[in-house]
Amino acid sequence: MKLVILGGGESGTGAALLGKKLGYEVFLSDKKNIDEVHKAILVKEAIPFEEGVHTEERILVADLVVKSPGIPDTVPMIKALQAKGIEVISEIELAGRHSDAIMICITGSNGKTTTTLLIHHILVQAGMDAGLAGNVGHSLAAQVAENAHPLYVVELSSFQLDGMFRFQADIAVLTNVTPDHLDRYDYKFENYVNSKFRILNNMGKEGLFIYGYDCEVVRQRVIGQKLLPQAVPFTYGGEPDLQQAGGTACAYMEGDTIVVRLDEKVFRMDKNDVSIKGRHNVYNAMAAILACMRAGVDPGAIAAGLKSFPQVEHRLETVAVVAGVTYINDSKATNVDSAWYALDSMTHPVVWIAGGTDKGNDYTVLYELVKQKVKALVCMGVDNRKLIENFSGICPVADTHSLEEALAAVQKYACEGDTVLLSPCCASFDLFKNYEQRGELFKEKVRQLK
Ligand code: ADP
Repeated sequence: MKLVILGGGESGTGAALLGKKLGYEVFLSDKKNIDEVHKAILVKEAIPFEEGVHTEERILVADLVVKSPGIPDTVPMIKALQAKGIEVISEIELAGRHSDAIMICITGSNGKTTTTLLIHHILVQAGMDAGLAGNVGHSLAAQVAENAHPLYVVELSSFQLDGMFRFQADIAVLTNVTPDHLDRYDYKFENYVNSKFRILNNMGKEGLFIYGYDCEVVRQRVIGQKLLPQAVPFTYGGEPDLQQAGGTACAYMEGDTIVVRLDEKVFRMDKNDVSIKGRHNVYNAMAAILACMRAGVDPGAIAAGLKSFPQVEHRLETVAVVAGVTYINDSKATNVDSAWYALDSMTHPVVWIAGGTDKGNDYTVLYELVKQKVKALVCMGVDNRKLIENFSGICPVADTHSLEEALAAVQKYACEGDTVLLSPCCASFDLFKNYEQRGELFKEKVRQLK
């Protein structure tokens, strides 16, 4: 059987390793260059590959194709494969077909990585043998090939879910769904929502589905639907109407206390004792508590894990305090919703750095928060017109076109006690390679201010 893999990044290389282990004749093709780390693995394992090109004769003969999540279905090669009736799946699907491990899966528009890392941290601190996989940057297939763990915590993007058909999650988390990546979904929000709900596919009644109750889109879909797995809502409000929400388990707030009920057990913890702050991180903590309770971790160990969880890089990451001004790197805030939560969690006057590649953003939802919290907006991007138009009447706005200019402009507004927040609301591709590079350069420049 011939397995062809399109894309030679982390997931493609992992799929190649698993394919080889399973006895497939593997060929990997990447239209761009393959990075040195993954190329070295392919060479070492004697897995044939090509880069800079897709050779049709070698691809269209496949029995099965694993496609990198970065490749849209609309590219000619995928269309040609579909026309020939060749099955195209994601690396997670391949891994799932060859693993009996327990799968805790996390998806949503925002909060995936944080929730995934948090669940993994709690499980490992509690002494469990858990793997970390998926969109968070580690191939599931590579770990399955090694039979590395009996349980995996898997972050799933909508693109990965699109290539999953028989995969079954044991515990699934859906944090929220807000508009994102619409260019890959015919600009139809409905298509993107459908994609996120694929996480429920194949789950049986023994499964647990943990969902964000305060997200209108998610709640509307879940309520009124007869789901097979047990559906458990989490909310920043009081105890939800469980009859409506469809069960007896839930996570909610009682003042500052997070209360979680599941399987006749009750977990309580002050939200201020969770290491990561902000309303969005209460949501992430609630989802993690529910998943870990179901995985059998005892309450003391869950609380300890929530207290000791380290900052996640580029997510509301405190960089330094310079001349009494706190600098925060939230470079991963690439959409409006994540920037909303960043601003919501600010407790001091904010000089806000935003901008980049606009993804069809609607900034109106931020007006109220900007009025309340933002002293000045420093726009940073090749084209800042839309941001300037949106916020000019609300706060002082500076127009800058590089990180250096932005940090220089910041100095005009920021005083002792203020916070400078990089939470761009936009993708990074106009000025940077990716959000990681944007965040790293920001941190470097801030440290130079010292
Ligand atoms: P994802 O992996 O889904 O992109 P991350 O955990 O990497 O999510 O966080 C992305 C951005 O969204 C960060 O700016 C972070 O502060 C913010 N964020 C984290 N959790 C949530 C949440 N539950 N709801 C909204 N925004 C969130």
